[in-house]
Amino acid sequence: MVELSGLDFFVESDKRIYWLYMVSALMLAVVIFRNQPDILRKQFSKEVLWHPSARLDYVYFVAVSAVKVLLIVPLLVGADDVIVWMVVFLQEQFGYVERIRIASVWLVGSYTLLIFVANDLTRYWLHRWMHTVPLLWRFHRVHHSAQVLNPLTFYRVHPVENVLFGLRYALTAGSVTALYIYFFGAGISMMQMGGANLFVFVFSLIGANLRHSHIPLRYPAKVERWILSPYQHQLHHSVHYGFKNYGSALSVWDRWFGTLVAGKTRKLRFGLLDETPTHSLLGAFLNPLNKGIKL
Ligand SMILES: [Zn+2]
Ligand SMILES: [Zn+2]
Repeated sequence: MVELSGLDFFVESDKRIYWLYMVSALMLAVVIFRNQPDILRKQFSKEVLWHPSARLDYVYFVAVSAVKVLLIVPLLVGADDVIVWMVVFLQEQFGYVERIRIASVWLVGSYTLLIFVANDLTRYWLHRWMHTVPLLWRFHRVHHSAQVLNPLTFYRVHPVENVLFGLRYALTAGSVTALYIYFFGAGISMMQMGGANLFVFVFSLIGANLRHSHIPLRYPAKVERWILSPYQHQLHHSVHYGFKNYGSALSVWDRWFGTLVAGKTRKLRFGLLDETPTHSLLGAFLNPLNKGIKL
């Protein structure tokens, strides 16, 4: 029952809305914007937290959690499946290789970093395709139809997009792990903090939940060239910069592939330019499947 409602996400450190990440986001916001009380007041105002768009986020979060538990997870190919296929494939193609021995600190450290970086890269490209391939954009616009932002907007994602991102994760983590098993032997482990990849844990602590908020937290310009600040994701949600800042944690992909934007803090309007969404649950699920129908 708890899983069906998604409430377990608040107590699992590999989930964005883990309580500690929420608390750290709030603390960062309070400390950094202590002299601009209007900013915090706005985030906690009725217009933001009880906007029809936000109310859809809350209902959507519960509904999509049930869909994930009942339909997506049981049917989806997992990273474990990919590992088995890939290891068999590598052994068939290239035969058995002598196991390379390196100090476990390097093995575990490099594996943890590589999983994080590879995941971030494939997330960048799939997110970019969600915008540039018209069929995929139909589904991704559910996320961008949010007119106000709060941490649960992160989960306002169509189940078709959930499936695609789940497959992407399985392929990425599965391939990296299979390569490590092939070259370094089985029994590989990751540096974790309470079950989350160490780098994910750190990224989540430095305000990841403010990405979906009206609190324009920025990092120093030099840091924003490497790590996307919450404000840079807010730019991605604005009607003018939707084709910028596709990245998740790292901004290097946006920088290298020409989609990075930062610059001075502007007043942003969130949502889609070309329509006024109805913010209905059924509409969010069904509209992308049938473009002509408005619910
Ligand atoms: Zn997007
Ligand atoms: Zn977003």
